Amino acid sequence: MVPTYSFVVPIYNEEETIAELYRRISRVMDQLEGTVELILVNDGSRDRSLDLLRKLRESDQRVKYLSLARNFGHQIAVTAGLNFTQGQVVVILDADLQDPPELIPAMVELWQQGYDLIYAQRTHRRRESFFKRLNAYVFYRVLKQLADVDIPTDTGDFCLMDRKVVNALNAMPERNRYIRGLRAWVGFRQTVLPFEREPRYAGEVKYTFRKSLALAINGLVSFSKVPLRLATYTGLLAAAIALIMVILVLYWRLFQPNSPVTGFALIAMAIFFLGAVQLICIGILGEYVGRIYEEVKGRPMYTLAEMDGFEPLD
Ligand code: UDP
Ligand code: MG
Repeated sequence: MVPTYSFVVPIYNEEETIAELYRRISRVMDQLEGTVELILVNDGSRDRSLDLLRKLRESDQRVKYLSLARNFGHQIAVTAGLNFTQGQVVVILDADLQDPPELIPAMVELWQQGYDLIYAQRTHRRRESFFKRLNAYVFYRVLKQLADVDIPTDTGDFCLMDRKVVNALNAMPERNRYIRGLRAWVGFRQTVLPFEREPRYAGEVKYTFRKSLALAINGLVSFSKVPLRLATYTGLLAAAIALIMVILVLYWRLFQPNSPVTGFALIAMAIFFLGAVQLICIGILGEYVGRIYEEVKGRPMYTLAEMDGFEPLD
């Protein structure tokens, strides 16, 4: 039987949160009218998470799980989950209960009013480090300025989507998946629902600084060509400065033989400056070329090691 709702939760080393996650989600599942499937995606956890998922599946048939063959990262784990959803309505939420499941009924209500995509937008981030909050604040605003699509600020992956949005996402072949951008790109009727973000229930943050930075760069590069144009602009600027210098030097040579000397220091500075600009521009170019390379290889996005609760694939 096709369920009405599918909840997708990525799990990476979350043994400490799974029991509480299930307890709170199952209360919401009982409360909703219609059937629910809870799809837990194990993203190559190295702790007891997978064991706990197997046990949950045994005790509650609404629970289904996928287990990726290694750690593929949050966005790919969510993508895998979305690929297997059947519900008319799909909700993505984090395993650490920073995205409160109790918000889902309010999101469902908005869906019933005719919205196809409801973003949960965090108004407060309690007890997250100042550094992380600052980074997030700046990043979402830069992205908003540069991106070709309108990605609402301060929205994470927590959202509710209609089947047609999920179908559109699943049809996208790209491997570099920045889900926040992709679902905004899809269109349809979108709205935001503000909520206060709780601190993590237990365990360590799984998004290291490096992973967050990679996600941020991915978001920018996937949804904006402005960084590429940066090279053109700095090139034009350097050309303008060079032209002014040529004119100055000519003037000094011709009309003021005892003019200010432009010595070694200036030349060295110019070399270093232009060298730096060129390297940065090559780096930016590399980000785009690297992505082209990734896409062209056409590898599957993930490999599955185990799953339970799904119809056999044909
Ligand atoms: N996660 C994952 N794979 C990873 C890293 C994180 O599936 O490589 C999951 C993690 O289990 C959690 C969600 O992604 O459910 C968000 O991670 P976390 O809470 O550590 O990051 P936050 O966004 O809160 O900083
Ligand atoms: Mg979290």
